Amino acid sequence: MAADATIVRPKPRRVVLKISGESFCQAGERGIAMSEVLVIAEQTMRAAAQGVQMAIVMGGGNILRGAQFTSGVSSIEQATAHYMGMLATVMNGLALQDALESLGAQTRLLTAIRMEAVAEPYIRRRARRHLEKGRIVLLAAGTGSPFVTTDTAAAQRALELEADVLLKATRVDGVYSDDPEKNAHAVLYSELTYHAVQQQNLRVMDPTAIAQCMEHDMPILVFNYRKEGNIERAVRGDKVGTLISSQVPANGAKEATGRKA
Ligand code: UDP
Repeated sequence: MAADATIVRPKPRRVVLKISGESFCQAGERGIAMSEVLVIAEQTMRAAAQGVQMAIVMGGGNILRGAQFTSGVSSIEQATAHYMGMLATVMNGLALQDALESLGAQTRLLTAIRMEAVAEPYIRRRARRHLEKGRIVLLAAGTGSPFVTTDTAAAQRALELEADVLLKATRVDGVYSDDPEKNAHAVLYSELTYHAVQQQNLRVMDPTAIAQCMEHDMPILVFNYRKEGNIERAVRGDKVGTLISSQVPANGAKEATGRKA
């Protein structure tokens, strides 16, 4: 799209990219498909080549989500299932690390749950050092604590690593006013405030993550990583996806410059 090529947003110096577990498998399936992991790896490599420091938070929903796993089941504690979900993100991290390294990238896998045989422990200063050295830093095991999701982990890491923007990679073009699959009149927002996301209950990231970004004014860019070159566009500051921030969009009341889906 022509508008996407126009640079209108400041080029970030450091980003945290959140990739959901569903990106690690074929649409509608589960587990890990290396063909899909390579799609992420190739795009990430090209984005990092633009000189931006990149940390990636992996989800684990392609393998296990704590809340779903315990739903209707009494023989496992909820906390246990959440820890299993965190371990799933480590598996995705290992797959992404090898995919990136097969393409020649320098990476480090850091985990919030210690397991020295496969990854370094997450230490904020160490993560920053790796980023400064140009390594792609993969952040596994979420926050290391149960009962939250990797969206919250991504918000947390973006704040503590002082990222300029939290990039939320999705399979759709950004945030819509309604489900575009069901409503032909759904509008794709190019900008939104955190407040609008909360008020309209828009499904972007989990509410804790939105609240945390809002409290500390961390911009969130929701974009379609499946469109070739979009991760690069996002790190270049090109106009792509939906930018969520405290900035009220120019057309005020509507809080959005809607493009017809
Ligand atoms: N999880 C957790 N604490 C964290 C991050 C994740 O307990 O800090 C668990 C939680 O059960 C979650 C699962 O790990 O459902 C997998 O992460 P998530 O659902 O965020 O993956 P995604 O939906 O992004 O694939």
